Amino acid sequence: MNDEKRIRRVIVAGGGTAGWMAAAALAKLLGKNLDIKLVESEAIGTVGVGEATIPTLHLFHQLLGIDEREMMAYTNATFKLGIAFENWKDVGEQYIHSFGAAGKDCWACNFSHFWVKGRQLGIHHDIGDYTKEHLGAREGRFAVSPRAERTHAYHFDASLYAKYLRSLAEKHGAQRIEGKIEQVQLDHHNGHIKALKLDSGELLEGDLFIDCTGFRGLLIDQALHTGYDDWGHWLPCDRAVAVQTGKGENPVAYTRSIARESGWQWRIPLQFRTGNGLVFCSHYMNEQRAIDQLLENVEGEPLMQPRVIPFRTGTRRKHWNKNCVAIGLSSGFIEPLESTSIHLIQRSIVRLLTFFPSNGFVQADINEFNNLIREETENVRDFVVLHYKLTNREDSEFWRHCRSMDIPDSLAHRMEMFEQGGRVYQNGTELFGESSWLQVLLGQGLMPRSYHPIVDVMSDEELARFLSGIRSDVRATVDSWPNHLEFIHHYCRAK
Ligand code: FAD
Repeated sequence: MNDEKRIRRVIVAGGGTAGWMAAAALAKLLGKNLDIKLVESEAIGTVGVGEATIPTLHLFHQLLGIDEREMMAYTNATFKLGIAFENWKDVGEQYIHSFGAAGKDCWACNFSHFWVKGRQLGIHHDIGDYTKEHLGAREGRFAVSPRAERTHAYHFDASLYAKYLRSLAEKHGAQRIEGKIEQVQLDHHNGHIKALKLDSGELLEGDLFIDCTGFRGLLIDQALHTGYDDWGHWLPCDRAVAVQTGKGENPVAYTRSIARESGWQWRIPLQFRTGNGLVFCSHYMNEQRAIDQLLENVEGEPLMQPRVIPFRTGTRRKHWNKNCVAIGLSSGFIEPLESTSIHLIQRSIVRLLTFFPSNGFVQADINEFNNLIREETENVRDFVVLHYKLTNREDSEFWRHCRSMDIPDSLAHRMEMFEQGGRVYQNGTELFGESSWLQVLLGQGLMPRSYHPIVDVMSDEELARFLSGIRSDVRATVDSWPNHLEFIHHYCRAK
């Protein structure tokens, strides 16, 4: 092996959620053969939001050997079983996108086809009644069952989560450096990054650089000019205003997403406080109005001044360019509606581990990494665009724009398939499975015109028994769960 090409020195630039997730994973899994340094600036700080997660985080935690109870106690976490979308289809209506799968699928089609026929016959209940996570979220009940599949996620304090990961990363040998990166130095032969110069004058030389500097994209953009595909024409919101409040209502086991006049509001309940924010489109609403609207609609006392966070939805043209891999907000941002950013961070980390360039950079590997990430990001984008497009709302300019805007062809195709024949599918290894697409398509008001012919093999009586059998099973499971908050206190204290 050519020693000159060997990648040993890894520099992680930035210590937000992305930086510490990357450092912790690399240190735990490859740390013995690497020298990992993370530089961050307390003066600059982190974006300070990003508190709702999705169940795929379990895979990351398993990889790192993270104990759920310890992590939850440390980060003030609650369980999250889904997201309630209020006012999205019509003002006054709501539905839940829960993390569980509805009913039972058969070889030819998924459960929704049986449900659609049941609906036509008038022998159905709400689709959520066939999903235990949905019913549990609605009724405030949950318990972790050791052998069951992990279909829950968390709401947690993002800064405490980064701190928790920092302790793991440092335990496995990563070294933290406090300082402000003032200059990114390039190697003029090949355009690779050679070193980061800090405000102290210190020079951090590396072989591989991971850009976790947030929206700034200090390395991937400001130094390497990688380019950005802007998705603002499909995802029009471009600002958020965020504020934390004290504990209001009892924490529910789901995130609330409440559509407002020119965007939507989140409510993320932690054990001892609530995260709130309004995501909005500055073309239709100014910042002061957004701040006022948010403050009018929070429960509990604000614990800080509201903070406006501008963003630009889209993705970096390449997430890995030369010897720099962008992870987190530096790599792009699909707005937070479905809490997908931390998931995308984790996917980039796992893919970087898969394609880790120990023996030097291989362009084919870099291309594959970029293609996989691009595909996954576009699938997530389509899923989020769906919520805006498929609305009946006409009560503001913003919603009229969303209703009439163009959408990606890939999304139009999926909507057409669902409307015509009730078909939903998972695109390769995409994050959101059939059950997620189904809940949002139905929740936003698109009802299939027909169902798969295999459903007609059942008589109407058999179908009625089939549906009510599933509903009773779901009911029995949820009835066996304790109150969500009582369970958290017991679970975290038992650690
Ligand atoms: P940041 O947190 O911004 O960290 C950047 C780091 O780089 C900091 O440590 C900073 O000090 C450092 N840095 C920058 N410049 C320099 C410099 N010159 N020198 C040294 N250090 C520097 N994700 C979810 O999964 N769920 C959610 O519910 C969710 N909600 C969100 C809501 C909003 C409004 C926004 C904007 C994002 C949300 N996200 C959410 C995304 C989530 O916040 C981020 O993906 C996550 O926090 C990771 O951020 P980051 O580490 O990439 O960037």
